[in-house]
Amino acid sequence: MPELPEVETTRRGLEPHVAGRRIVALTVHEPRLRWRVPDDLPAKLAGQRITGTGRRAKYLLISVESGTLLVHLGMSGNLRVLPADAPRIAHDHYDLLLDSGNTLRFNDPRRFGSLHYTDGDPRRHPLLARLAPEPFDPEFDRDYMWRITRRRRASIKQVLMNSHLVVGVGNIYASETLFRAKIRPRRRAQSLSREEAGRLVKEVRAVLTKAIKVGGTTLRDYVGADGEPGYFRQKLFVYEREECRVCGTGIRRLTQQGRSSYYCPVCQK
Ligand SMILES: [Zn+2]
Repeated sequence: MPELPEVETTRRGLEPHVAGRRIVALTVHEPRLRWRVPDDLPAKLAGQRITGTGRRAKYLLISVESGTLLVHLGMSGNLRVLPADAPRIAHDHYDLLLDSGNTLRFNDPRRFGSLHYTDGDPRRHPLLARLAPEPFDPEFDRDYMWRITRRRRASIKQVLMNSHLVVGVGNIYASETLFRAKIRPRRRAQSLSREEAGRLVKEVRAVLTKAIKVGGTTLRDYVGADGEPGYFRQKLFVYEREECRVCGTGIRRLTQQGRSSYYCPVCQK
């Protein structure tokens, strides 16, 4: 499933192909995505210039002169930049044809992705308005982490992955963050010290920054988000690893909320 780094990687890959381009047409082949693509959207977008791209959580934002497109990749979606005449394949659901002769094509076998448009502030759109802070937001700092963990008996990994508290920390990234912060995944959130809360904030940013950076270098005109962290996988410290890359101890695996967690019993307390 595309996580925050994959969506940001997609955004960075698309940006040079779409910014400043004019939309010739939006052609919807299959409107039945997670939410139905509005029937009047092609008419609204035709002729509009794309002014830039952004991201909020796992929503890719494509700004046009009169508003913003909110693109979600769902569980299995990807956006590719292709020549307009490239043959369509199964599960290609829409094409955003650009005046460059390229098309931005959305493919999604499971159709959990979505396409919305707003002419207002996208951050106030109902899908985005109530989202928790991003790991890179200034308000997501040591004091914030300290506050949200105080009364929580849940595990720290559960808190990190709770999208009502912070968005964008998927399963792999949670294990890696906890390793780097030297905290075991099963620790009760409320047991964290202030210093540990600070380490978590610093390390979650470091892990996501690295994942975005590595993902970004693999992109050219194919923009993929296949759910694998790509080259980042080769750099993992604990996730699906046998031995700790720091001390050589055997990595332990456990299941939390149905998802695997990995940790080093020596490096993490
Ligand atoms: Zn270790």
